[in-house]
Amino acid sequence: MKKLIRVRTIRNKLTIPNFFLFGLATLILILSVGAVTPLQTNVASSNLELMSNTTNLASIQTKGRLEGLKTQMLNSWQEEARQKGVFQEIPKRFQGVTLNAVKPNNHKKIIALTFDDGPWPKYTEQILDILKANNVKGTFFVIGRNMKNLPEVGKRIVNDGHTIANHTWHHWYHRLSPRVAANEIDATEEIIYKTTGVRTNLFRPPGGVLGNGPAAYARSKNYSVIMWSADSNDYKRPAVPRLLGNVMRNSKPGGIVLMHDGGGDRQSTVQALPEMIKRFKQQGYQFVTIPEMLEIEDKQMQAIAVKLN
Ligand SMILES: [Zn+2]
Repeated sequence: MKKLIRVRTIRNKLTIPNFFLFGLATLILILSVGAVTPLQTNVASSNLELMSNTTNLASIQTKGRLEGLKTQMLNSWQEEARQKGVFQEIPKRFQGVTLNAVKPNNHKKIIALTFDDGPWPKYTEQILDILKANNVKGTFFVIGRNMKNLPEVGKRIVNDGHTIANHTWHHWYHRLSPRVAANEIDATEEIIYKTTGVRTNLFRPPGGVLGNGPAAYARSKNYSVIMWSADSNDYKRPAVPRLLGNVMRNSKPGGIVLMHDGGGDRQSTVQALPEMIKRFKQQGYQFVTIPEMLEIEDKQMQAIAVKLN
């Protein structure tokens, strides 16, 4: 009701062109808020609707122009998000499959750092700080209920340019009924989308358990199920040299490193990460997110297919 009254008051004070400008400015404001938090888009649209309906002066033509402008701006936001890598597009050949590494041509030194079980107080942001300082992008498999508790940290993962992915809502290991398994995936997908605007189709099963329901459901929804090839064993909180050894010893071109930013005390991981990045860089590795890794692999396989034809 408050909004209705405000709009009417303003309308009385303003001339027609001014009101149009005011509407345009409000629209731009609404759209920019919507762009930052897509969760708000529906609310923003209904506000827009409300304004149009209560404004006799806004002709159908103006409404059409505003809608056109809105579409244009949303498209450019989507394009920008695509360029930033916020939109995840997994190549078709990897949809519905499970993998733990890729095999790059000529042993091209690419490696993916992955972090599970966040967002988590303190540690997730410390890891984000380290990645930022080293200009490294990683992949975060988040837990739905943690996203609900720490949405701002979840948003930062995406805003910093990392890939966010699905790690179920509750992190259960036991056998789940098909309905519960589906909900574990769908509810997490939804909260990631509502919080960050990213619709993910990457899944990592808690504990790497593939046979208890969620992984099968994820594959049926064309998710890629992403395992790992180098386990840091960081959940055991090893001393830093041991953690580094676990990772470096098992790493290879096209490998996927498993670490944790949440789920408990992650000091070891935070302490080991800068040195780990340094060592990989010294060895000539390039850090990629999982979607980037899959894209590289996809192009390579396309090239092979062309050769065979
Ligand atoms: Zn986990």
